[in-house]
Amino acid sequence: MHIPETPGAISAVLVATVAAIALLACQTDAADDVATEGEPDAEHEESAEGHEVHWSYEGDTGPAMWGSLDPSFAACHDGVRQSPVDIAGAVDGGESELEIRWQAGDAEVIDNGHTIVVNVAEGSAISLEGREFALLQFHFHHPSEHTVEGSAAPIDIHFVHAAAEGDLAVIGVFLEAGEADPTIRSIWDAIPSAGEAPGALAAFDPNALLPEGGSHYRYPGSLTTPGCSEIVSWVVMADSIAVSQEQVDAFAAIYPMNARPVQPLNERTIELKQ
Ligand SMILES: [Zn+2]
Repeated sequence: MHIPETPGAISAVLVATVAAIALLACQTDAADDVATEGEPDAEHEESAEGHEVHWSYEGDTGPAMWGSLDPSFAACHDGVRQSPVDIAGAVDGGESELEIRWQAGDAEVIDNGHTIVVNVAEGSAISLEGREFALLQFHFHHPSEHTVEGSAAPIDIHFVHAAAEGDLAVIGVFLEAGEADPTIRSIWDAIPSAGEAPGALAAFDPNALLPEGGSHYRYPGSLTTPGCSEIVSWVVMADSIAVSQEQVDAFAAIYPMNARPVQPLNERTIELKQ
């Protein structure tokens, strides 16, 4: 990935980044489909040729088939740095090179046909290994996509950040069953019904969804949805936050299964940073 030197180049990269995010979280067509069709099954993507490609989490459009659904999804089958992975055998990666600088702001909650997405206001960012990434949105998977020594959490959150160069850094947080979480309650309460406008969250602070400990796993990977682009610096927090079983059940009632299975680690190393 080259470093853009002109404003035009930067704009082009930003457009490419937005396209990558659309693939990741399916915000574009799917949100419209939900609004117009009134059904939460709007599992379509724009292919490189501009036609819609249906994908899902089961059957003949499920994860095992993604790579053959469209040429632009080839990395889902042919990639060698795919995500999620099972986190096991992590090596000592030394001190954290992650600085989280999120801030409160207005946010909106949408159902994009694949998950619930919270789009955040500009201004939140991270520094990861000396590079800047801006927080765009976060969303949920049930069960968790990453696993730890073979075990999935009930839910995980993916906080999606983009660099000016067009690549992404995603921070994963596991949600384990325990006490109810008031921040999750505020998000679930704002989920729009089919055909409704996005839910609004005023002065929403994403820091409330971070675990107390800063230890995290680091490895290079991909988007976990088609086209599975291998442009993601993954950060998976070692500690989790608690949500109630009722809160898990409320999400599962909308998305009973929206997790891609774990992928081969291949030649990669997972580092644990303190
Ligand atoms: Zn995700």
